[in-house]
Amino acid sequence: MNVHDSEQLTELLKGSGYVRTDSAKEADLIIVNTCSIREKAEQKVYSQLGRYRQIKMAKPGVMLGICGCVAQQQGERLIEKLPFLDLVFGTHNIHRLPEFISRVGKTGRPVVETGFHETVPSIGILAPPERGAVSAFVTIMQGCDNYCAFCVVPYLRGREESRKFNDILAEVKALADGGVKEVTLLGQNVNSYGKTPGNGHSFSELLRAIGGIGGIERIRFTTSHPKDLSDDIIDCFRGVKALCESIHLPVQSGSDAVLARMNRKYTSADYLDCVRKLRGACPDIAISSDIIVGFPGETEQDYQKTLDLMGKVRFDTLFSFQYSERKGTAAVGFDGKVNPDEKRRRLIGLQSLQDLHTREKNDKLVGKTVEVLVEGTSRNTPQDVMGRTRTNKIVNFAGGSDLAGTAVRVRIVDAFLHSLRGEMLD
Ligand code: SF4
Repeated sequence: MNVHDSEQLTELLKGSGYVRTDSAKEADLIIVNTCSIREKAEQKVYSQLGRYRQIKMAKPGVMLGICGCVAQQQGERLIEKLPFLDLVFGTHNIHRLPEFISRVGKTGRPVVETGFHETVPSIGILAPPERGAVSAFVTIMQGCDNYCAFCVVPYLRGREESRKFNDILAEVKALADGGVKEVTLLGQNVNSYGKTPGNGHSFSELLRAIGGIGGIERIRFTTSHPKDLSDDIIDCFRGVKALCESIHLPVQSGSDAVLARMNRKYTSADYLDCVRKLRGACPDIAISSDIIVGFPGETEQDYQKTLDLMGKVRFDTLFSFQYSERKGTAAVGFDGKVNPDEKRRRLIGLQSLQDLHTREKNDKLVGKTVEVLVEGTSRNTPQDVMGRTRTNKIVNFAGGSDLAGTAVRVRIVDAFLHSLRGEMLD
């Protein structure tokens, strides 16, 4: 979502005559788009701003700003702490960036804007991908009403808001006309799409409608909540051909006691039921997830239940984290804080188990033929190209850069932990 927000900022700035550069030293304007979902991400922001300050000092006239969740959370405090900043703007004010730049230019004083609006104005800013790109992000909703006990998102992104059905379809149609083959539908909780009063369309209707747009060969979405995964959505994995056989479905814990304290509103049995139905609708579906270890009150038994659930599901990939306390969330006041060493031990144990499962899944693909959508030249080996299977696995194989943007058949010849090696058949 932050990557797409940055694409929107880039698009907005084109109207003010800015062009993008990959070198901060060349820039006249530097904006750090931030995430505060974990403490570590937030800390990185401060060190990065310190580095950009050197550039600003060496080149007077450079504007330096911060946006996103850290800006939303800290507001004025950032200017007190880092007085060299020119711009601080929050998640609901992205659309006003050109105005803010002109204000700083006229007054020479910093601008701080972190107000919330009833609707998120940036939700409809179109940010077409670069010419020739085959994949694009499309925002379908923003915000979250779930208030999981560990999460800052509802406080920093605001209430759930679904974008208009017809606006989304028009954007996807325009992307398809421009050569895009793969769209990733974005939102904090995409499968609750349509719950905004007056919207009148469900997420499954949206998936079916996008599936009917000519030229769109792959649809992905992220992120979804298990409690909102209806049978109707699961059925789309049967009926919508373009919908990729892949889902990211965060479970967070395998212990019902921990899930209840997290305010996740499902049990481990509910989650396993979702997995059973998904595999019933689509036997080869790849399932990835998020897990937090060391949530307040998590006992060794709770942790073992998480490992048990992993054994039952056998995720394709997993994003796992030690619990990180975020100011303003309900869990800050919970008893039973787990000490850092114990959290680390649990995380290492869980990640070792996941590595076994990931290898097991990848090894099973050796000898199989898969469709790969080529993204471009491989980062490490210039004579190879890199692409993704419909199940979102990275495949490297020998081929020229002219293959970028095409879907080719590839036989998998070797499997590693984070990627596959293949041979092109077409
Ligand atoms: S559903 Fe996701 S975004 Fe919403 S509060 Fe829970 S973890 Fe945060």
